[in-house]
Amino acid sequence: MEEKVLSLKKAFQKDLQGVKHSKDIEQLKVKYLGRKGPVQGLMVDLRNVDPEKRPRVGKIINELKQEITHLCEQAAETFSQAEETKRLEQEKIDITLPGKRAYLGRHHPVRLMLREVIDILIGMGFSVQCGPEIDSDWYNFEGLNYPPDHPARDMQDTFYINEHFLLRSQTSNVQLRTMEGHNPPIRIIAPGTVFRNENISARSHVFFHQVEGLYIDRDVSFADLFATLEEFWSKLFKKSVEIRFRPSFFPFVEPGIEVDLRCTACDGKGCRLCKQSGWLEVCGAGMVHPEVLKNGGIDPHEYSGYAWGLGIERAAMLRYGINDIRMFTENDMRLLEQF
Ligand SMILES: [Zn+2]
Repeated sequence: MEEKVLSLKKAFQKDLQGVKHSKDIEQLKVKYLGRKGPVQGLMVDLRNVDPEKRPRVGKIINELKQEITHLCEQAAETFSQAEETKRLEQEKIDITLPGKRAYLGRHHPVRLMLREVIDILIGMGFSVQCGPEIDSDWYNFEGLNYPPDHPARDMQDTFYINEHFLLRSQTSNVQLRTMEGHNPPIRIIAPGTVFRNENISARSHVFFHQVEGLYIDRDVSFADLFATLEEFWSKLFKKSVEIRFRPSFFPFVEPGIEVDLRCTACDGKGCRLCKQSGWLEVCGAGMVHPEVLKNGGIDPHEYSGYAWGLGIERAAMLRYGINDIRMFTENDMRLLEQF
């Protein structure tokens, strides 16, 4: 009987060594200690043992039972620790590895230029006034002295939404809105997006940005306009600039002028930027037309004013040496990363 116990013990130890997974241990335990297992068999056999020897043999069988239970628990513990270590090993993060660099956004060159222009003009005493991008024909055209069927309307190909509403073709739509809500002196700039139904080319686009300046007070003269423009362009190009005026036509000003800047790249000698002319066209301007003042509810006999507007893309092209307006909307990272 004792030999049986011993050989069973050996068999169990051999089986235990062959176990590869924690889940096999439970099976092994059932195999030996289950109701139909060999240990239970020994208990049955115990009945046939001499009553004298029975307590001793019973004790040996019990010890075997306890040993199997204990060894199985121990093995299960060992397996579960090994598996945990393996799992942690796989999940380990090497904090010394270089990380992926997050790409930080930058300001768009048009936005940078717009911000700079606005900063300069606020410093010169103008306040910012915004207007709607969808506006009525009155504010964009008729109230600004463009009568219906006036040929000047053809200067700007406009996106009409219906008979009365359109996408503004100029930030000048802010002029009358401001006059209606304020008494002179008025000293505002109106930055914003404008829309034109034009063919897209290196020099023109269907939408771009303008900043419009408007100053209305008693005795505002052409000299004030001249001084303001000279100071503004000098501040923008961070050096003293020379400007000249050429007569031009815009319905909402009288007289209207085109403003040229002595080329900042060649100092007037002639280069590719100024197309060898020595001058750069930079903005349109003029004295506010008396009809426009009247439409805004301001007495043209008492007040006068000037207005001027510049294209932000145009200014950015001159400043950054970009020769195609389409580059601003192509989202080419090779360009955008430079700002
Ligand atoms: Zn030049």
